[in-house]
Amino acid sequence: MGFNIVLSSPSGAGKTTITKKISQKYPNIKISISHTTRKPRSNEIDGVDYHFVSKEKFEKLIKENNFYEHAKIFDNYYGTSKKSVNKLHDENYDVVFDIDWQGTKQLSQFKELNLIKIFILPPDKKELKKRLINRNQDNNQIVEKRLKQYENDIQHWFDYDYVVINNDLESCFSQIEKIIKSHKKEKMSFI
Ligand code: 5GP
Repeated sequence: MGFNIVLSSPSGAGKTTITKKISQKYPNIKISISHTTRKPRSNEIDGVDYHFVSKEKFEKLIKENNFYEHAKIFDNYYGTSKKSVNKLHDENYDVVFDIDWQGTKQLSQFKELNLIKIFILPPDKKELKKRLINRNQDNNQIVEKRLKQYENDIQHWFDYDYVVINNDLESCFSQIEKIIKSHKKEKMSFI
């Protein structure tokens, strides 16, 4: 197996954009598509952004031990399916996970995954609020909820190997590229 990158951040810090950018630039790195019980946003596609499933289906998958990790975030379940990640590894892809700190803790227990854990932070709370409002995905109530969650989320930075501040998308991305390259030089045939 190659390696796996975990990107976590408080909601709105730019992690999803960076995850997509990594997989676009490096075709050998695939995004792990999570399962969730959250309703799709208008720009999201089932099977591409997430596997959108019912609460009942998700709970059945938990019972059957189908997840590497799962967590409840903002009243919804999110989880990483063992089957889809293993399939990517079998096809010799490296994997990038866009998951929260709870999931990272669980995933860390699978040492064979060789995780590189990166925590992305927004420059500050004011900037985060601006980004959450500008991206126009959620109503005011949800934005407020995500801002409250921020205080809790950022306390988990010490569970990660690296903390990168997303002041500017390009420089944040280039720092993450450097981290990946330095870690896995011997296996970086794709760079
Ligand atoms: P959103 O609803 O904005 O897409 O995601 C909310 C949070 O759930 C984000 O912090 C995202 O990283 C996290 N998340 C997405 N998929 C998973 C997953 O499979 N497991 C865990 N633990 N968190 C996830």
